[in-house]
Amino acid sequence: MRRRSFVAGVAGAAAAGALAPLARAATSQDYDYIIVGAGTAGLPAALFASRRGARVLLLDAAGDIGGTLHLSTGQMSAAGTRLQARLGIVDTPQAHYDDIIRISHNTVDPVLTRIAVDEAATTFDWLMDRGFQPLPEHPVLGKGHEPYSQKRYYWGADGGRSILAVLRREFETERREGRIDLQLQTPVTALITDDAGAVRGVRVKSADRERTYRGRHVLLTCGGYGSNAEMFERLSGYRAYAATGYPYSQGAGIELAVGVGGYVRGRQNYLSNFGSILTDDAIPGRFLARFVVIPQERLPWEIFVNARGERFIREDQQSVDAREQTLLAQPDLRYWIVFDEEMLASAPPGVGGWSREQMREAFGIHKWFQKADDLPTLARNSGIDVDGLVRTVADYNRGVAKRNDALGREHMPRPIIKAPFYAIRHQGHSTTSTVGLAVDGQLRVIRSDGTPIPNLYAAGELLGAGQTQGRSFVGGMMVTPALSFGRILGERLPLGVRA
Ligand SMILES: Cc1cc2nc3c(=O)[nH]c(=O)nc-3n(C[C@H](O)[C@H](O)[C@H](O)COP(=O)(O)OP(=O)(O)OC[C@H]3O[C@@H](n4cnc5c(N)ncnc54)[C@H](O)[C@@H]3O)c2cc1C
Repeated sequence: MRRRSFVAGVAGAAAAGALAPLARAATSQDYDYIIVGAGTAGLPAALFASRRGARVLLLDAAGDIGGTLHLSTGQMSAAGTRLQARLGIVDTPQAHYDDIIRISHNTVDPVLTRIAVDEAATTFDWLMDRGFQPLPEHPVLGKGHEPYSQKRYYWGADGGRSILAVLRREFETERREGRIDLQLQTPVTALITDDAGAVRGVRVKSADRERTYRGRHVLLTCGGYGSNAEMFERLSGYRAYAATGYPYSQGAGIELAVGVGGYVRGRQNYLSNFGSILTDDAIPGRFLARFVVIPQERLPWEIFVNARGERFIREDQQSVDAREQTLLAQPDLRYWIVFDEEMLASAPPGVGGWSREQMREAFGIHKWFQKADDLPTLARNSGIDVDGLVRTVADYNRGVAKRNDALGREHMPRPIIKAPFYAIRHQGHSTTSTVGLAVDGQLRVIRSDGTPIPNLYAAGELLGAGQTQGRSFVGGMMVTPALSFGRILGERLPLGVRA
């Protein structure tokens, strides 16, 4: 959808009566916008609305603005930017869209993804105008995710904080104009509706006091549920194996909107990354380290096996996405990297950022690092099927000897034969929230019959990672849409506090 149709759609909603007047006098507590969450989507919404003269109430449960930008890698993707043009890179939102369809195997929401790619360059150019500095070699094709076909991927030296620094500066400038009321440590606990089901305001809890605020548009920009293990499992169908999200990503927006008739979608899009070493068995666990499994960075010497002791992918598979999709079919999203003494002694150290000595030490102290003099003992102590592992290693070694691997692997420097043998357990997990609140092409929260809940909008991870990434991880397709959707909501909803 193009910009014009978004505006027309909003005006159409007003004409249809979705913005009917309140039967009460205006008070100083009435706002054009009540924005729930001062993070990646909420900050641009607030400052772009205020620039138009809107009266804005911005509420956040945390003690600081910024949300997940404090943790995020902050990788953005945008096609048709001025930086690309300056570098002679010819790119278009259509090419970006086509790439997303290819990488996601056509599983994204086409309407939201189209808006996201169409708006991305404006958002990125605005950040650049306001002082955002991508790394000097940017844009790039990709890193960590499936590469794009064109260089349209950018981030700053300080990850998400590089974006936050710009937003914070702009926000404070705008706040000095006096149109934004910011209230921190003020979680929204309920939405207020009228008899017709239209949202009229919010209830908050602050310093143990409950208060209500009334506003014309209520924007839910309060993030995902990555730090709510119960909701994560309920919505995605997978356990929250690792807690790597922003602590305030508790899924509040889902509870708030479902409470007034909204619904969630996107469970089919769950995907985990290819695995991390966690600190222990606790669920959710904490991240410790990650083996370098990207063959473009380090070719594999080891094999990967699941709990049945089976190899499930050629370890030198070039596609990040293929690795991630294959892991989804393995029990508990878990696998072990298995190797022998000769590999530990000769291969480049596999755990990212660790020396060979650090790796050796870990086998004495960390439960996920197992070492044994024979394969059956290694399997038993690791939790891998004994017969499966013994059979798999024998098959692999035969393939190495014949230079003909059953899974088609090409890089096979040596067999696994010299004791002691080693296994490092890895756990797939997802940092972000796949499932999200259903909205229409104007970012209005909708009921399951498709009708919008009047005055209620949503943006950011609350919409679900799967809407703009599908069942895949598409570079930059959460931060950039969150920023853009926040911006266009701030720019385009009608103003004028109701009397
Ligand atoms: C480690 C990590 C790395 C990532 N890297 C990338 C990346 O490189 N590229 C990419 O595209 N995506 C990335 N993501 C995802 C992306 O950063 C997020 O999806 C995005 O920042 C979320 O923006 P948001 O506005 O929806 O939520 P947030 O930025 O989290 O903002 C939500 C705000 O709402 C507040 N809030 C919560 N509940 C309430 C309540 N009840 N009342 C009031 N306020 C409330 C929170 O305190 C928070 O400030 C990453 C995520 C993580 C965790």
